[in-house]
Amino acid sequence: MSANSMPADSVPANRDYDLVVIGAGSGGLAAAKQAAKQGKRVAIAEKEAIGGTCVNRGCIPTKLMIYAADFAKQQSLASDYGWVNPEGLFDWPTFKQAMDDHIQSLRQTQSDHLGDIDILRGQAEFVDAHTLRIGEQTVTTEYVLIAVGARPKMPDIPGIKHALTSRDIFRLETLPDSFLIAGGGYIGVEFSQVLRSFGCRVTLVDSSSQVLDRFDKDIQERVKQILVDDGIKVIDGARLEEIAKGTDTLVATLDDGQTIKAKQILCALGRTGNIDTLNLEAVAVATEKDKIVVDDQGRTNTPNIFAVGDCTDKMLLTPVARAEALAAVETMFSDHDAQVSYRWVPSAVFMHPEVAMVGLTERAAREQYNQIEVHCDTFSPLKYALASESLESLIKLVVDPSTQNILGVHLVAPRAADLVQALVPALKKGLTVTELEQTIGIHPSVGEEIFAL
Ligand code: FAD
Repeated sequence: MSANSMPADSVPANRDYDLVVIGAGSGGLAAAKQAAKQGKRVAIAEKEAIGGTCVNRGCIPTKLMIYAADFAKQQSLASDYGWVNPEGLFDWPTFKQAMDDHIQSLRQTQSDHLGDIDILRGQAEFVDAHTLRIGEQTVTTEYVLIAVGARPKMPDIPGIKHALTSRDIFRLETLPDSFLIAGGGYIGVEFSQVLRSFGCRVTLVDSSSQVLDRFDKDIQERVKQILVDDGIKVIDGARLEEIAKGTDTLVATLDDGQTIKAKQILCALGRTGNIDTLNLEAVAVATEKDKIVVDDQGRTNTPNIFAVGDCTDKMLLTPVARAEALAAVETMFSDHDAQVSYRWVPSAVFMHPEVAMVGLTERAAREQYNQIEVHCDTFSPLKYALASESLESLIKLVVDPSTQNILGVHLVAPRAADLVQALVPALKKGLTVTELEQTIGIHPSVGEEIFAL
């Protein structure tokens, strides 16, 4: 603690704010608005654009790119349905302008909805547990919520300065004709398929034996096959070791000795918490690796300092950051603790077809239960009946045979994200496989396949 700093438990009587939030992303905005709604004096410190990763360089721009790529898929299907000459040319600058305009309008809407919340522009760092320096100003507060998010992890290898991150992709003025993507998590997989649909040659390199590390093994295998069928070269079990700059291409060397040429290399190798510039040492907030350690309410080991979202070691998803933020604010300003349950958080990979899951994978269920049942089937959606290429979809349920309760749902199919999230309330209430089978669906729809398993 510095000589003129305040002890963690002494709340300044004439403090500027009840709550200062660091970071105006998904978690920070949700927390600030919730506290302001309760009449608290709130400020948000933000060093970049309002909206954080999701709006500016994450969920929204990637999904807009995916919608753009969908037209390529629809065009190839259209010719099977009798449309003559449906092909069109994709123009990246035209799309990019439309995407940038939409993101700008989202940012504006988010700023317009901040009401009485003060926006303090600049990088925030702790002076003590109740005092923050934000750019040129210093403010005092009862509580601090750290919601600073994360940034792409870059490996320490020769030539890494030539590689792009997901953030750089949205800034490209022209679209290169070939990419090497290092990392087979959902960001690497989504970008691989999108860039391939735009006509780029794509090589996806992943150090594990399968893409989508945290997903069920049958889903991983299906996704890999979809990527290969799309013309993406998938190299698994290999690591990016070096990048060299050639005359007009980059040359990547992998740890198995292979070399791959590509115009651009995208690193999608995980995310590291933005915690290094917060001066956390001044407040003795505990960290592990590059993340802030919090309890179930988002409390750090310093009682008035909370942390939520991607800078903590939980689930790196926008709805999770928001839910954690609401729980943290409730805990701060009420007489009870609130917490988030992670058991039934659904997640999706927005590829073609979509991939979605909720609950336990088969492997996780086998670790936790003596016995499990697995129901797995493939089907082809009716929409692809006339198509020259097939779209094999897959549904898998993991079930506890002693109760018939469904422990996990895994789906690769058109609109899988919407279908899986619609099941969540019933799953939380202990939906059994028999109840699912007895449900009458809508025909013909993809969703009815879940009931017919
Ligand atoms: P962020 O939204 O990252 O906000 C943190 C903010 O803090 C930033 O604005 C930053 O500028 C600011 N900041 C950092 N340090 C300081 C400081 N010292 N002082 C002041 N300000 C600071 N999630 C989904 O649920 N669905 C998706 O489809 C999805 N797609 C994604 C695609 C990509 C390419 C990426 C990268 C992420 C995606 N995510 C998705 C994840 C999602 O974006 C994050 O989980 C979410 O944005 C986390 O919110 P947050 O509040 O923790 O942090």
